[in-house]
Amino acid sequence: MTAAIIDGKAFAAKVRGEVAAHVARLKEEHGIQPGLAVVLVGEDPASQVYVSSKGKQTVEAGMASFEHKLEADTSEADLLALIDRLNKDPKVHGILVQLPLPGHLNSELVINSIDPAKDVDGFHISNVGLLGTGQKSMVPCTPLGCLMMLRDHHGKLAGMNAVVVGRSNIVGKPMAQLLLGDSCTVTIAHSRTKDLAAVCRGADILVAAVGRPEMITGEFVKPGATVIDVGINRIERDGKTKLVGDVEFASAAAVAGAITPVPGGVGPMTIACLLANTLTACCRANGLSEPS
Ligand code: NDP
Repeated sequence: MTAAIIDGKAFAAKVRGEVAAHVARLKEEHGIQPGLAVVLVGEDPASQVYVSSKGKQTVEAGMASFEHKLEADTSEADLLALIDRLNKDPKVHGILVQLPLPGHLNSELVINSIDPAKDVDGFHISNVGLLGTGQKSMVPCTPLGCLMMLRDHHGKLAGMNAVVVGRSNIVGKPMAQLLLGDSCTVTIAHSRTKDLAAVCRGADILVAAVGRPEMITGEFVKPGATVIDVGINRIERDGKTKLVGDVEFASAAAVAGAITPVPGGVGPMTIACLLANTLTACCRANGLSEPS
């Protein structure tokens, strides 16, 4: 069996197109332009790439992009003062603080200082609580992108067995909440899980968010299952730097029914969902109907 490839790149382009069309209508009918502020502290190379890509796609969707690049030794007080200004700025509907932050800054404190209504990453404790209790919230972009691809591929997910490998606050836990919200039977696996391969083989939907290159092989996959690979790992192979997921693509694709590639799977959906969340935040701030 060879798995169908779930094309996150194409799906993300479609989502971005829908966001751009909605943004254009907002401008035309209401004179409103959604705005996204991205705050980067320090010079982590991967973060710089993400931030510039986010800025570019924000502008391409017709939104305003405000980039704040701060020195690595920026004090917590200065960062909190900037967030306070962004919270009060009516042109800013979404605020994203790029993680990880330098070690001297308290990430939880910083994230929880963002106005929850502008927290387009969905990491504020209020949004975490709202998601956990099934209420309207800002949903973290990466798991939201995964859910959209799963819904697109399967239609309804109710009753499916889902296994999420990874229990981080930014991917694993919200992914599990979203799948539960769609009435999957959800198992969360982690580094202490016994016989991980057997647990994973029970999954109709297998989401890998582990941060270990190609750890999930075909042996972990139930025949016909849908595999979502969240991992982004840079490895050296044959003298070249290569981007690979947490799933060993070839062996998993030989068993799975459908699979996301890396690159071109979850990654592009994450930024598309960030734009969608910014649009949603703008609509809510202005009392307008939200995009569906
Ligand atoms: P974390 O390091 O925060 O979490 C990793 C999780 O995997 C932990 O819960 C850990 O378990 C679990 N784990 C680690 N080793 C094993 C193992 N051997 N067996 C079973 N479980 C294990 O990572 P993130 O959640 O932040 O990210 C996961 C991956 O997703 C990374 O590759 C990251 O780069 C990628 N990512 C991709 C994004 C995208 O846009 N596509 C966005 C965000 C992340 P425990 O809790 O027990 O330690």
